[in-house]
Amino acid sequence: MLRGLSRAVDPVSAPFAWEAGADGRRELVGARVTQCALSRICGACAESLGRPIAFVGDDLEVARNAFHAPPLHESCAEGLAETEPSWRVVRTAAFEFVRPTKDDLDRRPTFQPSALI
Ligand SMILES: [Zn+2]
Repeated sequence: MLRGLSRAVDPVSAPFAWEAGADGRRELVGARVTQCALSRICGACAESLGRPIAFVGDDLEVARNAFHAPPLHESCAEGLAETEPSWRVVRTAAFEFVRPTKDDLDRRPTFQPSALI
């Protein structure tokens, strides 16, 4: 079990950066998203990231090249995408972690792949 986390992590059924919300759907936990970004750990299995880095997102996130879910191992991303039909997997060698400004309507940080593979 991870420090600060009161449950076991499974990259597909209980990914690190998500918790079940009130309606049972998965919701990202903002503090863990930031932890993944700063510590460069995978949002699913919470292990250190290598390359390529993968992101999961819907068509809009792919079109904007701005993802809300944290960076993932390629295999972890593929496992998660199988659970969410709307998610596509994007691979990159690098990304930027972009925090929202006060003028942004969407106050969540985004991950912007900068070297798509
Ligand atoms: Zn992983």
